[in-house]
Amino acid sequence: MTKKILILEDESSIADNIRYALEAEGFFTLWFATLAEGKQRLAAGDIDLLVLDVGLPDGNGFDFCRELRKENQVPVIFLTARSAEIDRVVGLEIGADDYMVKPFSPRELAARVKAVFRRGQSAVEASPPVRLKSTLPFTLDPERMKIFYFGSALPLSRYEFRLLRVLIERPGRVLSRDQLMEMAWEEPEASLDRTVDAHIKSLRSKMRAVEPAIDPIETHRGLGYSLKEHW
Ligand code: CA
Repeated sequence: MTKKILILEDESSIADNIRYALEAEGFFTLWFATLAEGKQRLAAGDIDLLVLDVGLPDGNGFDFCRELRKENQVPVIFLTARSAEIDRVVGLEIGADDYMVKPFSPRELAARVKAVFRRGQSAVEASPPVRLKSTLPFTLDPERMKIFYFGSALPLSRYEFRLLRVLIERPGRVLSRDQLMEMAWEEPEASLDRTVDAHIKSLRSKMRAVEPAIDPIETHRGLGYSLKEHW
C-alpha cells in the first residue's frame, strides 16, 4: 500500500522540493501550510507519517506535536530552522521520530522517512509477546509499542520505547551508553540522535509523572544505567 505523507510547511519552495523527493520514492504526499488545515486532515485519518515544520504561521510545531501525541502515534519528522541542541532534544522528547535542520537535502529527508517506516516494520515483526519479571511494575505490549507503568500507558517516542524496553527486559543489569545505543537504536552509527542521556532524562520524567516517589532508573557513575531490580 502506498504510504500517505502529510507535509506541514509554510514555505512553498521547500514543500515542493520535499514532495518531489518523496513522490520519486513512491510515496503519496499531501501539503498544507497551516497547523489548522493539518489538524483537520490528520483527524480524517489514514496519514502514515507527518513532516512538520516547527515555525508555522498559526503556531509552533513542538506544541502541536505534544498535543497530537495525547491521542495519535503517527510518526513525526520535524523540520527546524534552528540548530540549537536544545531544540533537537525537545523535539525528540515530545515524541518525534526524527528531525532535519534547514537547509537539508530533500533526498536525505526521503531516506529518513524510509528509515522511520523500516523501524516501524521491524518493531512489528520482531515482537513476540515478552514475559517480564513478574515483580516489575511494567507491562510491555510490543505490537502496539506501548509500555504500561503501574497500569498507566507511558507516552513514549519510538526511541524512548526501545530504550525502556531494553532496560525492563534486563532489570539490575548495568548497561553502558554505548551498549544502550547498540541495543535500542536500529542504525546507531547513522543516527544523529546519539543522546542516550537526554532520553533517559525524558523517560524518568515521564515515569515520575505516574509515580513521583520512585526513580526506576539507576545511574552508575562512569558505567551507565540499570533498571531498579528490587521493587
Ligand atoms: Ca516555517
